[in-house]
Amino acid sequence: MGLKIRKNDVVIVKAGKDKGKKGKVLKVLKSKNMAIVEKIRLMKEFVRPNPSRNIQGGIMEKEAPIPISNLMLYCPECDMGVRVGIKILGDGSKVRTCKKCGAIFD
Ligand SMILES: [Zn+2]
Repeated sequence: MGLKIRKNDVVIVKAGKDKGKKGKVLKVLKSKNMAIVEKIRLMKEFVRPNPSRNIQGGIMEKEAPIPISNLMLYCPECDMGVRVGIKILGDGSKVRTCKKCGAIFD
């Protein structure tokens, strides 16, 4: 499972209120099986002003983690979220492929 969604992948949300949205994975929280996806599941957060660090403060938007099971890898060839297959190359290395069109993601 851990191999299927990685940092910097483009994913599509397949469940919840952000269903159908596309974003880039900023961080994978492996132990929780969750990921933080750019601009997905934005939460408002109050930030204190900190002039010495040039932080103005106020209400900031921040991404909350989303379960990896709610995400699908985006395939540019198919232009949709797809299931990921694993293919083992001749040299023994594993790559991720699109189960629909066979494109290699790695
Ligand atoms: Zn594809």
